Amino acid sequence: GPVLAIESSCDETACAILSSDGTCLAQRVVSQDGHADFGGVVPEIAARAHLALLPGLVRATLADAQLTANDIGFVASTTGPGLIGGLIVGSGFGKGLALALGKPFVAVNHVEAHALTARIPGLVPGGAPFPYLLLLVSGGHCQCIAVEGVGQYRKLGGTIDDAAGEAFDKVAKMLGLGWPGGPALEKLARDGNPKTIPLPRPLLGREGCDFSFSGLKTALSQKLAPFGQSPLPRQFAADLAASFQQAVADVVADRITHALRMMPDAGLLVCAGGVAANSVLRARLETVAEQHGIRFAAPPLKLCTDNAVMVGWAALETCQEAARRGLPQPDDTATRPRPRWPLDEMAHRFAATL
Ligand code: ATP
Ligand code: MG
Ligand code: FE
Repeated sequence: GPVLAIESSCDETACAILSSDGTCLAQRVVSQDGHADFGGVVPEIAARAHLALLPGLVRATLADAQLTANDIGFVASTTGPGLIGGLIVGSGFGKGLALALGKPFVAVNHVEAHALTARIPGLVPGGAPFPYLLLLVSGGHCQCIAVEGVGQYRKLGGTIDDAAGEAFDKVAKMLGLGWPGGPALEKLARDGNPKTIPLPRPLLGREGCDFSFSGLKTALSQKLAPFGQSPLPRQFAADLAASFQQAVADVVADRITHALRMMPDAGLLVCAGGVAANSVLRARLETVAEQHGIRFAAPPLKLCTDNAVMVGWAALETCQEAARRGLPQPDDTATRPRPRWPLDEMAHRFAATL
């Protein structure tokens, strides 16, 4: 039967129902409000909101799919990594539902779900066969991952300070654009000249594919200092936004070039996470992929940002992989929520045959 999936690791409360071939029967995402006034996600507010939203959201998603809970084959929840309060709510809800229905529960790693999204049937023209290189760039993540199989991931590099989206959000805040500011910053940058304001390119040319954004942020704040509390001239703000975006694109292009050197068998470059919405960054990644003679793909934005479809899909792939290896179908009722859950630990699930 279909999988009912729940996502609650950050500030999106989401539910989706997928049939066993991966077809999405229904999905809903609520992006919580109530955080913007604080300029960032407040974990306690997020956890309470998940708790308040989930029962109605699950009911509504079932209704959208014209199913009742009894039609569900199994339940899957994001169980880490993320904010512990939200993880407890979402995984507790999922386990409770599974228990009540007498169906299995599958614990899903949120980053793995982002990593496998490109494999949802029909999303990427030509499909996303293993191995491929994943660039995950969101508010909370910034890493390059070699995706070699279900449960088989190798982290090639990651940020040593801020995540890419975090950098966009902080810079947007400095420019007075509100939160989350990535989209507003991109919009402002369209009116700016990226060549006017020199900014550093942290780690450019450095071995490996780690990222760093805090130096860029600091350099930018120094450009702002002369203005004190007075409002920025609009053209200057636009030029700063464009210059910042260009610097990020330059750095990411360089890091991905290095990552592809570390993974010569990659046939595809996938970009996921909310920052994948940025068209300047996308265009640069497309160019890098082209230069390496590989395809580039970014899932539709709705599936790039946090959602439950990817959680259901990751659970289906996990079950299929277990079956393929002759292992019992997973039941993770005893798995505890984990704020940290490195991807390289996912292979343990299939350890019996490794
Ligand atoms: P997680 O990190 O757990 O995946 P998140 O909520 O922080 O969750 P997403 O929802 O995937 O991340 O993405 C939100 C981030 O993407 C924000 O930091 C936002 O500013 C950034 N973002 C969205 N659109 C753009 C854009 N056009 N340009 C740059 N950044 C963007
Ligand atoms: Mg979010
Ligand atoms: Fe996410």
